[in-house]
Amino acid sequence: MNLLERSELMAKDLVEIRRDLHQHPELSFQEARTASIAAREMKTLGLKIKTGVAKTGIVADLENGKGPTICLRADMDALPIEEDNEHDFISQNPGVMHACGHDGHVATLIGAARLLTEDKHSGSLPKGSVRFIFQPSEECADEHGLSGAMRMVQEGVMENVDAVVGLHIGGALPSGKLFFSSGPIMAGAQEVTVKITGKSSHAALPNSGIDALVLAAQGIVTAQQGVSRQLSPMDSGVLTFGTIRGGTASNVLADTVILEGTIRFFSEEVHRKLKNHISSSFHMLETLGAKISIKFGSHYLPVINNTEITDRLRIASTEILEEADILPLSPMMFAEDFSFFSSEVPGSFFWLGAALPQPRMHHSTNFDFDETCLPIGAASLASGAIELLRELR
Ligand SMILES: [Zn+2]
Ligand SMILES: [Zn+2]
Repeated sequence: MNLLERSELMAKDLVEIRRDLHQHPELSFQEARTASIAAREMKTLGLKIKTGVAKTGIVADLENGKGPTICLRADMDALPIEEDNEHDFISQNPGVMHACGHDGHVATLIGAARLLTEDKHSGSLPKGSVRFIFQPSEECADEHGLSGAMRMVQEGVMENVDAVVGLHIGGALPSGKLFFSSGPIMAGAQEVTVKITGKSSHAALPNSGIDALVLAAQGIVTAQQGVSRQLSPMDSGVLTFGTIRGGTASNVLADTVILEGTIRFFSEEVHRKLKNHISSSFHMLETLGAKISIKFGSHYLPVINNTEITDRLRIASTEILEEADILPLSPMMFAEDFSFFSSEVPGSFFWLGAALPQPRMHHSTNFDFDETCLPIGAASLASGAIELLRELR
């Protein structure tokens, strides 16, 4: 039996784990129940485990003699979304939902741990260690601006690790297929808050005030031009302001406007250019009398997949899938804090196609995915780890 055939034998179990997690979703850094399930599974397999890593995370080591250490990662958190689905395993936690597929990530990583432990016992696992990490808070950073991966790195989870691998379920990617690409794959992101302070006055006497609202509009338009006029047409970048708040009444000049937005990028150069351009676009308004304060918030690095590790994962996946089911993927502007692991050690982040006949959008109230992909996810993580143990000796 190959890895996928063995993985298919646990299909029912993996679906059960996923549905249980789906019914009990937990927000970022509150994944106590999810972590306890992961810990229980890892203990049952006889792995050495650490709990409470980065607040609620679990790290479990499968040790099999001297050799490289390969790290497999799953994120555990859900989102503050009210689920609107019909199925009978709908979220039991009002206002919280697994709308990104992280319930499936935990299930596939448990599956991979079972497969690799079986291999260790049968003596077929190449020498070395496999570290399973169940990461808290991928979706957001805490009050100190740190996400789960950032905290795990700070707590030394990547020490002595030779390669790190992560998988994401793709609710809109064709089910049963795997997607690998080297180079930039997920964007870096940084939040920005801009405060424009003017001076209020009667709406009928605009000349006696400083209209923060008009100045904000001007600043937004100028800042947007940075994407088309500061970046090379060959580079990619995004600036989006998602909120604007200001003013008190229709007949009063707004004295304060606050904007919140995000920038996305694949390189430090684009990141720097966008930041500089936002700063000059708004500070320019000071010549018109406004006071400007700009704060750049939590910052996710882009995910840049290592070519050698990605090639190895792709080769490993040919043991479980046909060539036609192994595809490349274009880079995406979404951010992923896996980047904090893969900036420490060589790494690769790949996607598992799991679209239902009517594909669902991640982070939407009716997100769901095809659970038949779970055994493929488990087998692909396990086969990748085996290949890397063998090749990174
Ligand atoms: Zn997400
Ligand atoms: Zn996600």
